[in-house]
Amino acid sequence: MSERKWLKQWSVPSESGARPYKVSLDLDGETYVCHCWPFLRERTTCKHIKKVLAGEVPEIGEDLPPEPVIEFWNVREVIPVTGRGGRIVRVKTPFVSFDDTHFTLTVVYDLLKAGVRMTTLRNRYRLPKDLTRVDIEAYIQQNGRKIYGPWEEERGQHVGYEFVR
Ligand SMILES: [Zn+2]
Repeated sequence: MSERKWLKQWSVPSESGARPYKVSLDLDGETYVCHCWPFLRERTTCKHIKKVLAGEVPEIGEDLPPEPVIEFWNVREVIPVTGRGGRIVRVKTPFVSFDDTHFTLTVVYDLLKAGVRMTTLRNRYRLPKDLTRVDIEAYIQQNGRKIYGPWEEERGQHVGYEFVR
């Protein structure tokens, strides 16, 4: 296996019709690098990286291990489902209400642990662009995981919440 310096790369078309810009994601899965002048000068998120973060650009040569598929189920918390070989192939995922930050971040945290990528979760859960995996882990370590309460048959729904580690 060859050594790889980047986790992912994208080729972002130039607006002026010049050569496309190559945006690279570091092996840490969080740091984006571009070759345009604004990025090289300021080291801040340039418009090319913004396009990548917004999911507007297809990545170059998809050779990453496949990501588990997110499936929405009536479950209390994220439940990974392993396939043959022990790899997590899909994750049963509860519906979230976007005004519940603690619950949403718990689901995102669990999905990250199951192997879903940060870029996927950023788009799916409309996470702020500056929110990192490290921030999410720190939040959950501090506040615990918030999951749905037990299922109540008569009401046909989960009732309340529970806080677990
Ligand atoms: Zn750039």
